[in-house]
Amino acid sequence: MTARPGGCKQILTSISAYFDGELDAASCDAIVQHCQGCPGCAVVVDGLRETVGLCRQAGTVPLPESVRRRARDSVRRLLDAEAETDAGAGRQDAPS
Ligand SMILES: [Zn+2]
Repeated sequence: MTARPGGCKQILTSISAYFDGELDAASCDAIVQHCQGCPGCAVVVDGLRETVGLCRQAGTVPLPESVRRRARDSVRRLLDAEAETDAGAGRQDAPS
């Protein structure tokens, strides 16, 4: 796995923001562009797109809380895995 410009973590964070209702069109665009060069994130986004219509109806249709929470959790898990990758040798909980 190779880190891409823009950063998978950054992208996943944006996706997470989407589920908090904070994603704007520019961020959507960044996600789409990143996924064109990053199969790993593309898979994630494809799955979420089918589930919640990511980037299709951002901000227009309120998602059921259960759907939103589930999708957000899966993204957070990916972010955690990504953080461990970034940390390299050290494995510690981020104090956020
Ligand atoms: Zn990526």
